[in-house]
Amino acid sequence: MHFDPTDEQRRWRDLAREFAEGEIRPRAAELDREQKFPYDIVERMTDLGLMGLTVPEQYGGSGGDFVGYNLALEEICRADTSVGITMEAHVSLGCAPLVAFGTEEQKRRYLGEEIRGGRKLWAFGLTEENAGTDAGGTETTAELVDGQWVVNGSKKWITNGGTEITGGVTAIAKTGTRENGKPELTAIIVPQDTPGFTRGPGYEKLGWRASDQRQLYFEDVTVPEGNTLGERGKGFRQFLSTLDAGRVAVGALSVGLAQACLDEALVRARERRQFGRSISEFQAIQFKLADMAMEVELARNMVLKAAWLKDEGRPFGREASMAKVFASEAAKRAADGAVQIWGGEGFMEGSAVARYWRQVKINEIGEGTSEINRQIIARSLLTDETATEAKGKMVAQ
Ligand SMILES: Cc1cc2nc3c(=O)[nH]c(=O)nc-3n(C[C@H](O)[C@H](O)[C@H](O)COP(=O)(O)OP(=O)(O)OC[C@H]3O[C@@H](n4cnc5c(N)ncnc54)[C@H](O)[C@@H]3O)c2cc1C
Repeated sequence: MHFDPTDEQRRWRDLAREFAEGEIRPRAAELDREQKFPYDIVERMTDLGLMGLTVPEQYGGSGGDFVGYNLALEEICRADTSVGITMEAHVSLGCAPLVAFGTEEQKRRYLGEEIRGGRKLWAFGLTEENAGTDAGGTETTAELVDGQWVVNGSKKWITNGGTEITGGVTAIAKTGTRENGKPELTAIIVPQDTPGFTRGPGYEKLGWRASDQRQLYFEDVTVPEGNTLGERGKGFRQFLSTLDAGRVAVGALSVGLAQACLDEALVRARERRQFGRSISEFQAIQFKLADMAMEVELARNMVLKAAWLKDEGRPFGREASMAKVFASEAAKRAADGAVQIWGGEGFMEGSAVARYWRQVKINEIGEGTSEINRQIIARSLLTDETATEAKGKMVAQ
């Protein structure tokens, strides 16, 4: 066993770090304040190959592995998680299902011609007003009429759903009812310019303010049957597997943010003097720093182990849930500790740690809440099922 990244993984990490430190970090506070989507940054990340990192080269991507992607994502998120979630949602939720389940024609068309490894962003639409954790409650419908899907309904909070460079969304729709009375769910590719497909305004958010989330509306949206992602009725399996991998990436996003909190805490601990000495000399502060460092290290190892299992083609769902829960909660503790070490300054608008404290909460919610991930972990332990099987049964109940 060894813990060294390969040369290629190291290259992705270093490239992302250099870009993030040079071009994202200096603008992170402004991006948060102005709540504007950073088109120029995304374009540069596309040029660098980061937005198509795990997309195979024959479809216009960079052909990188999952460990390399998570290392790069951590670095982007260490500078800013708004930019990080734009990358994560595009790579893990937008491109990955097309790569994993798309037909050859769909991959060539949507990844190659339209996305070109990130030239356009692709979104993944699962959540609805009445279908959050319980995706089985999907109310958006798609009916097959003369070889065309007619989609009706709406989606909520869809990341990258309404930017000027969004190519479209892969939407989960109810296409029938199974013999056991459960819904048949199918993933349908809906290009952005399809008539009847419209988007709501962006949301006012606690964090991720420079990223794009939209309500999406489908009113008699008609697309060819050939826009079925893979096969009809496979939507359920497809989104479970997509979210397994997405959870690892949200873990990496959390590690990047936790590392940023530790970085800022160290700066303040060294600089701030009270009682005639640096506050870093007080054991209470030292223990906080030590706890943060241990948790960052552990969270990073959990994320990379889950990512490595995926690259090896081995089951990784349980480890993905564990990494996501631990890393997101460690990041929350790190943000809290960083604000505490900054004292009143950390409570001021404009301070980096105040921003981190606002941003960190969503990591425990998006792509499966901590509650649902704990249930997946426990159920897979108790029943000896893989985590994906356990989740499948839970959601189908
Ligand atoms: C900024 C942002 C970006 C997002 N991006 C996307 C996106 O790109 N695509 C997309 O499809 N979705 C997206 N989402 C939606 C996100 O995945 C959901 O918010 C998440 O799945 C939780 O659903 P919910 O918010 O409806 O919570 P609910 O399902 O209403 O849950 C509320 C609470 O109840 C708990 N709960 C629910 N069921 C159970 C249970 N069986 N046992 C125990 N506890 C339970 C939950 O853990 C949670 O604490 C985004 C959300 C946000 C806020």
